[in-house]
Amino acid sequence: MRIGFIGLGNMGGPMALNMIKAGHSLTVYDLRRAAAEPHLAAGARWADSPAQVTAECELVVTSLPGPKEIEEVSLGEGGIISKIPRGAVYADLSTNSPSVIRRLHAAFAAKGIEVLDAPVSGGIPGARNATLAVMVGGSRAAFEKIKPALDAIGDKVSYIGESGAGAVAKLVHNMIAICSTQLLAEAFTMGVKAGVAPESLLKVVQDGAYGQGMLLSGTMPKMVFRGNFDRVTFALKLARKDLGLATEVGRELNVPMPLASIVEQDFLAALANGLGEKDSTAAVTIQENRAGVKIRAQ
Ligand code: NAD
Repeated sequence: MRIGFIGLGNMGGPMALNMIKAGHSLTVYDLRRAAAEPHLAAGARWADSPAQVTAECELVVTSLPGPKEIEEVSLGEGGIISKIPRGAVYADLSTNSPSVIRRLHAAFAAKGIEVLDAPVSGGIPGARNATLAVMVGGSRAAFEKIKPALDAIGDKVSYIGESGAGAVAKLVHNMIAICSTQLLAEAFTMGVKAGVAPESLLKVVQDGAYGQGMLLSGTMPKMVFRGNFDRVTFALKLARKDLGLATEVGRELNVPMPLASIVEQDFLAALANGLGEKDSTAAVTIQENRAGVKIRAQ
């Protein structure tokens, strides 16, 4: 495909190189011209502006820091929208706001251009090795049209749903990754201050059910998605006891544990609502009730 690539940073740089390697013809642009050196050496053409990148392209992609840069490059003066040929597709590989991507979708649709949100996950190693997960929102036909270009950067390319669905999926993924890291920090500071070596804690966590991926392979699809809280594998009242013991250690040792304390309050609410004899997973219904939505498979 003839592809215009804007944003050759930590992620965009290797992704663009992999598109060239897969046989696509690239025109590239970045605020920092030096970032394009490996691509120009590999046969890509340089353009002096986002608008110039789009000339004769079937696909234009951006990999930019965030909503501000994406709006500027796509809708601003000399932006993608000013010159992109009718019938081309614009795919944003950045982690962007779902509302911004839907706004772009509408603005480009008025010119006969499909916009896809196509954020990626897998970090710099995934970008280098073309093993990224790519989550795509927008029209399915546009997705099928540009899939060969996405296959050049990832081996887990998925159509998620309408415009913005890819961006939402990416935010769900990153929120889990970011908050889980803080939760690990909380638990490990408590464990280390209580006298256990971090290496030993890591081994135990890796060997246990959590480390074996039980939450994603069992808890979510088999229990939460089915609303299946009556088949008790670990009673909620026991989970509340364990969490209480952990926060007690935190209090004894002066280890602040804000996340565990919030979750403990949810477990108290679950007990107060008569869920003690249900499976511990039933505590998710406390959050479901707050959010006014159920997490059930469709
Ligand atoms: P980066 O800062 O390394 O790259 C951004 C590039 O965009 C830079 O080369 C910069 O010069 C260029 N740029 C900025 N403003 C521009 C403009 N107005 N016109 C042209 N070029 C411009 O960032 P990154 O780590 O490559 O991340 C890119 C996107 O991918 C972000 O949205 C990020 O959230 C997402 N992401 C990053 C990772 C990661 O591990 N780094 C993983 C997945 C997704």
